[in-house]
Amino acid sequence: MVKFLKVLKASATVGTVTRRYPFESSLVTSEFRGLIEIDPVKCVGCGACVRICPPKALTIEVNEKETILKYFIGRCIFCWMCVQTCPQKAIKTTNKFELSVFNLKDVMRELVFRTVTCKVCGRAFTPVKLVVEINKRVGDLYMHTDIYVCPDCRQALTARRLLTKYLGRG
Ligand code: SF4
Ligand code: SF4
Repeated sequence: MVKFLKVLKASATVGTVTRRYPFESSLVTSEFRGLIEIDPVKCVGCGACVRICPPKALTIEVNEKETILKYFIGRCIFCWMCVQTCPQKAIKTTNKFELSVFNLKDVMRELVFRTVTCKVCGRAFTPVKLVVEINKRVGDLYMHTDIYVCPDCRQALTARRLLTKYLGRG
């Protein structure tokens, strides 16, 4: 009873704090976490956001021709961890939350990049745009290394080089 009277007193002091949404505008503050938007110009398809995304709302698919970054809004929990992780600052935050759609395809977003194939084994492994970005950032360092070689072949090449260097055989 005492508790109820306290609540009654508080509500009489504060007044109405709820809104008759959707008949009135919603109570969305500037801090409210809503939909993310990926800038197709800034994004290089590095996949850092995919690795950090807790519910796997972001996924990446690499095939012979293309690397496809997919964002499934239906699975997004709007934690914005991807925003903090993106090295390109390519993910914009919004406070959009009215996201109902009639077609499932309308809650899917896709960015498509051309894929690089490994110059040793021919396997598709990363977006061209990412290689270009790495070259731009650390060009001198990577100039003579195996940037167009996939991680597996790079490992094998490095092991062979070390054997040659230290044991005189490859
Ligand atoms: S982390 Fe940023 S640059 Fe990398 S794939 Fe995600 S949105 Fe694109
Ligand atoms: S906001 Fe969170 S859940 Fe949504 S795509 Fe980014 S990391 Fe994944």
